[in-house]
Amino acid sequence: MPVKLLVVEDEKSILKLLRTILTANKYEVVEASTGAEALSLITSHCPDLILLDLGLPDMDGNTLLSSVRKWTSTPVIVLSARTHESDKVEAIDLGADDYITKPFGASELLARIRMALRHTQTMSQNAQIARTGQFHSGGLTIDYNKYRVYVDGVDAQLTQGEYRIVALLGKYAGRVLTYDFLMKELWGPCSKGDNKILRVNMANIRRKIEKTPAQPKYIFTEVGVGYRMAEGDEP
Ligand code: CA
Repeated sequence: MPVKLLVVEDEKSILKLLRTILTANKYEVVEASTGAEALSLITSHCPDLILLDLGLPDMDGNTLLSSVRKWTSTPVIVLSARTHESDKVEAIDLGADDYITKPFGASELLARIRMALRHTQTMSQNAQIARTGQFHSGGLTIDYNKYRVYVDGVDAQLTQGEYRIVALLGKYAGRVLTYDFLMKELWGPCSKGDNKILRVNMANIRRKIEKTPAQPKYIFTEVGVGYRMAEGDEP
């Protein structure tokens, strides 16, 4: 059975581009150009994944997203313009799995789709963490029982605060966690909106776990949005 993707996009040229890329890669494509159309297609076609443009003629993509999230966990990738970082943050907070900035390349699009489809398996990854107490991604190991992080078998000597950040990102590996989400989870609901503490910690974490901190392999920065842990190894 081919994987079925619902593309919600009102711009004809982008829709055509998406259709070309996706069908060439053996995906079945269902198309909607308005939010209302999208809602009815989601119920009638049960897509495996939704690609969602935020700027729709009849409703805001985020409005559509929040109503979709009330009844389905189907992965949603938001398509957004670079100028709207706050929209991206909002979309992820509303439950989008990922976002792609326009203009995008075919290989990036396909990689993000494959990754989001694997998110449906995130539960099994979390089950693995629960079972083994460990998260693995390449040379990185998070040991949730010992509260330690190892790189190529060597203890990275993270501080307690640094460990908590890495441990949280590991639990949501492959997903972007917004600064806001991280701040609230790590420093509580009353944490101030300032992300400086997070940035300082991340700089230290990268020095300790990445060979080349400027080109990270394990924790990626999504500029203006948040951080993402590399996907875990196959369970
Ligand atoms: Ca649009």
